[in-house]
Amino acid sequence: MFEWTGGELPTFVTHLECSLTGERYPADTLQTLSKAGRPLLVRYDLDGIRRALPRDKLADRPQTLWRYRELLPVRRPENVVSLGEVVTPLVSLPRISDRLGGGEILVKDEGRLPTGSFKARGLALAVSMAKELGVETMAMPTNGNAGAAMAAYCSRAGIKAYVFCPDDTPAVNVREIAMQGAEVFLVDGLIDDCGKLVAEGEQEVGWFNCSTLREPYRIEGKKTMGIELAEQLGWEVPDVIFYPTGGGTGIIGMWKAFGELEKIGWIGPKRPRMVVVQATGCAPMVKAWEEGVEHAPRWENAHTFAAGIRVPQAVGDFLILRAVRESGGFATAVADDMIADAWREVASEEGLLLCPEGAATYAAYKNALADGRVGTDERVVLFNCASGLKYPMPEAGTPLKLGSAVDWRKLIGAIPTPRIPAHKR
Ligand SMILES: *Cc1c(COP(=O)(O)O)cnc(C)c1O
Repeated sequence: MFEWTGGELPTFVTHLECSLTGERYPADTLQTLSKAGRPLLVRYDLDGIRRALPRDKLADRPQTLWRYRELLPVRRPENVVSLGEVVTPLVSLPRISDRLGGGEILVKDEGRLPTGSFKARGLALAVSMAKELGVETMAMPTNGNAGAAMAAYCSRAGIKAYVFCPDDTPAVNVREIAMQGAEVFLVDGLIDDCGKLVAEGEQEVGWFNCSTLREPYRIEGKKTMGIELAEQLGWEVPDVIFYPTGGGTGIIGMWKAFGELEKIGWIGPKRPRMVVVQATGCAPMVKAWEEGVEHAPRWENAHTFAAGIRVPQAVGDFLILRAVRESGGFATAVADDMIADAWREVASEEGLLLCPEGAATYAAYKNALADGRVGTDERVVLFNCASGLKYPMPEAGTPLKLGSAVDWRKLIGAIPTPRIPAHKR
């Protein structure tokens, strides 16, 4: 949890800046998109941070994202809304790495965060800042996890929350949102249709619109993934990062983090190649990357069971694509059946239950290793963004009736032996 006893937090925010035009906006007042209709980025006095915080000062701070508070925007400690944002582990996949003949594979397991997804990082910051700026009602469109995180943090902060989901959002997400105190609506459309309703309600009832990248602080929360990753690797970055991309907050946030970390002297100029992973049924960023354009038109008839990456259009499209291009990365799509196989493969072979979006990154890695876009000596990080337990899994379980003798030979013979040979090491 968050503890700070030194009065005002030492924040170094100087202003906000339009990500497209560079136009400046004041911090410490409520902001949405810029006049150009694009996301605002939070800017800091990085020289001030460099002087105030040598990186070894982090050593005795609690293992939560608030350990990087100088790089975060909250000013008053009483406005920090926290549910215990743990540092998430990097879990290696040694057996799979051996079998594929590739380099080290590390999974950043974000499913350990409050509300079971990395949306907690963004919403912890967005809701803390909303509290700091006096917001009383918030609303957002969601495919599930963001709404759940907003609901939880809003309840914690005493802010009323309204959440709009597509009506085929997994039931567990919808119920989780309601249990955590928000009003939840099921819309017969996609997430951007839900977004239109939230914008309409913003005009009519005046709630604060917390749609992806419409407010500046979710990126700052997601930025902590990049800082944390670098710290965990001894202030090194991996060679390649595979990121399941929907609205892109995470990829934009991590890219921003690496830039800021270099400026404050915590990392060098090396950057990971950033790889956008989408599903073939909804791949607007992949198409835009392949065509070499900066903006991605809406993807029609978007479908994939990996709900977190079913985002037909992203307002931060150009920021996502810039991170991919500047890093020398690429964008790639995987089909749903490959995602399903990858999901089962990692769970059964390594004991790590990913979410489908996380499984998509593993499927994409396998393809990239096979076709040489990733080398066999490269260390990769795959992002598992949510707990696999939040998703409907294939039915399982052999029925067993008590009261008659068990034919053990038949029973055990009927249980399939693992497809995968035991680890040789
Ligand atoms: C939100 C979400 C994503 C996409 O993350 P962005 O940073 O918005 O692109 C991927 N997977 C899961 C499970 C999510 O909840």
